[in-house]
Amino acid sequence: MCYAIPGKIISISKDGKTATIQYFGELRNAHIIGAAVSIGDYVYAQGGIVVGKISETEALPILKLWKTKFLELKKVDEELASIPENISSLLQKAEAGDEEPLTKEEMRDVLNIKDETELNSLYQTANHIRKKRLDNACCVHGIIEFSNYCMQNCLYCGIRCDNKKITRYRMSEEEILQAVDYAVDRLGFKALVLQSGEDSYYTDEMLISIVKKIREKHGILIFMSIGERSKECYIKLYGAGAYGVLIRFETSNSKLYARLRPGKKLDDRLELIRWLKSNGFVVATGFLIGLPGQTKEDIVNDVLLTKSIVPDMYSFGPFIPHQETPLFAAPSSQIAEVLKVIALSRFVDQESKILVTTALETFSHDAKKAGLLAGANSLMINLTPEKYRKHYDLYPGKTGLETENWKPNKEIQETIKLLESLGRAPTDLGV
Ligand code: SAH
Ligand code: SF4
Repeated sequence: MCYAIPGKIISISKDGKTATIQYFGELRNAHIIGAAVSIGDYVYAQGGIVVGKISETEALPILKLWKTKFLELKKVDEELASIPENISSLLQKAEAGDEEPLTKEEMRDVLNIKDETELNSLYQTANHIRKKRLDNACCVHGIIEFSNYCMQNCLYCGIRCDNKKITRYRMSEEEILQAVDYAVDRLGFKALVLQSGEDSYYTDEMLISIVKKIREKHGILIFMSIGERSKECYIKLYGAGAYGVLIRFETSNSKLYARLRPGKKLDDRLELIRWLKSNGFVVATGFLIGLPGQTKEDIVNDVLLTKSIVPDMYSFGPFIPHQETPLFAAPSSQIAEVLKVIALSRFVDQESKILVTTALETFSHDAKKAGLLAGANSLMINLTPEKYRKHYDLYPGKTGLETENWKPNKEIQETIKLLESLGRAPTDLGV
């Protein structure tokens, strides 16, 4: 669940661990971790966790504003997400859902669709399922990239340690806290990802201190995206209040994984991801699409592996070759490939949260919209301070770098406009 509209707690489970929250007549459950809340309180919940409490005086005007708007948006979504006519038997089966799931061959058939009309039916069917199963809520998370130092050497990545041509940076604790204050107080974000290369300069204690200081001030969901750290480190981060982790397994093909991530093993990565999930973390995970050597079967397996992890969010994106990496000459992935994977993921895991990743947006200005109309229901906005953004160079063509006067507010306004035009409630931004 990802409403950042405040809801009212109407009951709390006997063990005190789960709150039932009401939003405009809809009931949702959220875990209570560390927050002191009681029945009748107005709270914000993110990713299924109660992250903050607000007073009734603050909550009521927000709810009043949302009530009419919410219904208007639902109507727009309803019209845009109708099921297309005369869909193929493959799409009919996909639409029907879990009772008779698509076989691996059928999943591959979906990825092989090329005809323009059929592709449109594919995206529309996925969008219809999204609406039917999850309605019009769309999470909008922010990401702050706080260091581009990395001790790993992933062949696909522009900030790999062997790339000596980039300017490295590390944000200080104070700079990170300032960026978070700005994102929460000025821009209204309720969920933030703190991302970096694998950078041991930040000790466990430093990361914990940053998370603690954020949580002392802000009722938000924090996702760490810092690669492979020890389980002890993750436990301490959870204790400090970072309940989310964004960590992709990159590819389900263990040979490809070993080739692309020198010295690393897929099994270790998966073991960590599964451990995080079973220890209560909100987990966002996924893979790269279009890696050199990756087959359609691999992508089918990638989707199924993601599903088997039972992630709280799917995060997959196109591989985009970077000039200063060994994969500089590899072909870039195409937008249709990614849209097909969004639709396919929606078919096989109908109630999942699927993110339109920032890498997809490098393809075109319309990619966000295309992703949302192909079955996705989450967005990420880059909030890295301007002076560092250009140096967080995972792949070329990142959005928001082309103008000297990039302002997150502008991107947020555009995103809100887009969501409104599609009838989605941008519920992570507050109002
Ligand atoms: N170091 C952490 C987090 C930062 S990297 C980690 O690796 O988990 C975040 C993501 O960037 C990676 O998971 C990878 O999927 C993506 N990425 C790296 N290089 C890329 C490229 N060339 N094209 C697209 N995505 C890329
Ligand atoms: Fe480092 Fe992550 Fe890039 Fe790999 S993908 S080189 S771990 S930042």
